[in-house]
Amino acid sequence: MNALHLPTAYVIAGVLYLIMPLTVWQMLRKQGVASNTLWCLGGMAFGLSLVLLGLRNQLPEALTYYTAIWLLLLGPLLRSAALRIELHRPVRLVWVLLGSVLFMAVYVFFHAILNNADLRFLWASFVASAAFMWLAWLARTIHLRDRSIGSQWIFVFYMAIGVLLALRVPVVVLTHGTPTAMTQDPVSVLLIFLGVTSAVVSNVGFLGMFIERMNRKALESVKIQARQEEMARLSDQIAQLDRRRSVGEIAASLAHELSQPLTNIYLISDRLELELKIRSDSSLDMYFADLNRNAQSAGNILGRIRSFIRSKDIELERIEIAQAIADVNALIRDLAYNESVDIQVSLPPQTLAVRADTVQLSQIFLNVIRNAIQATHGQAQRQLHIQVWREENTAHISFTDNGPGLPPETSERVGSAFFSTKPDGLGVGLSISKSIALLHGGSLSIGNSPSAGAVVHLQLPALD
Ligand code: ADP
Repeated sequence: MNALHLPTAYVIAGVLYLIMPLTVWQMLRKQGVASNTLWCLGGMAFGLSLVLLGLRNQLPEALTYYTAIWLLLLGPLLRSAALRIELHRPVRLVWVLLGSVLFMAVYVFFHAILNNADLRFLWASFVASAAFMWLAWLARTIHLRDRSIGSQWIFVFYMAIGVLLALRVPVVVLTHGTPTAMTQDPVSVLLIFLGVTSAVVSNVGFLGMFIERMNRKALESVKIQARQEEMARLSDQIAQLDRRRSVGEIAASLAHELSQPLTNIYLISDRLELELKIRSDSSLDMYFADLNRNAQSAGNILGRIRSFIRSKDIELERIEIAQAIADVNALIRDLAYNESVDIQVSLPPQTLAVRADTVQLSQIFLNVIRNAIQATHGQAQRQLHIQVWREENTAHISFTDNGPGLPPETSERVGSAFFSTKPDGLGVGLSISKSIALLHGGSLSIGNSPSAGAVVHLQLPALD
């Protein structure tokens, strides 16, 4: 007494395989992807083959053997071709068709010419098993690449079908002797169960792959937007800091320069006061007291300006140099592109991090890269090579451009405050960068590279 009527089960699985792919195809149609159509066709071919197998007693042999078995193989092959598209490694459909025709030629030979049911069954099961395993393997590759749960389910079900098809041969041969697709044994029953469930799971899994991808894309674009906003904010911050620093440097220099004449005024007024005292003239005492008080208060003001400029809140945090360079590169990508400067970055294999204030570190990179871009103006191929490496406990970053380098007569003064060879230059970028490097326990130097062009060398204490 058979609890399961295999032909009916075949037809049910087949109909499911005809309906489900169509539904998924309809849902994904608007995405306009070729893999969707191939996946659907593959599923329907497989579904039709199951229906034909189920109707073996009702329909002619040409349909229930040859067409059914051909479609049985064509189904997973077309689905594999769909997954290959998803993996950006498309196969030519003509190979798929040719493969299936070749398989059929051997099948027909065993069935019609040798009339050997064992060989025919062995061959069909073996090739179908291989096709399902290949399909499963492709799904697994997608799962590993995208962490997609949908493709993981496709892998599980199709791999199970592939394994069962392979197992079917020894089981059927050992238990019955005359193997056919309708032989009812535990493996075949399990297979038909998997046939029905895989009709649902594989198609939902395929749909899931797309939904997961859409979610990933949406997440990516949110991330990119957040990053761009962060970049814009950082860029503003740097520009503002640059301006403030420039003003700060000017103020610091003024404070420094004015303190000397102010001291002189102070000394001269003291001297005059003494002279008048010697001459016993006290008529101007009140004015001298005024003068001294004012000179004193001017000195105090300058002192306050200097100490205000010196003190600054910085937020030290762990920064990965590769990331910091990438951030600055993103900021000046347009500039580098418009100026046709090729920026190459060589990073060490291991992550290299420093403790720094992110805005200030970016400011160094920005100043140095901007200078290099300006320096390479006029070169046929404008290049900047940024190299990062670690030596013991020091992180090194060098910026080598292929500009004219530093002329010998200026090389001594380059990097000191307000030295600039540019018509509109402020001459504060490098000196600011130097003081930032010092503030972080490192150093910054500029010189000429052996291969012409300038090289700026930044060293900072490296984090473990
Ligand atoms: P600015 O850019 O306003 O001139 P900087 O302090 O950044 O101020 O640079 C000072 C000077 O150093 C520049 O005017 C230029 O003469 C020299 N300099 C900086 N970087 C380079 C470079 N990559 N190649 C040649 N000269 C440079």
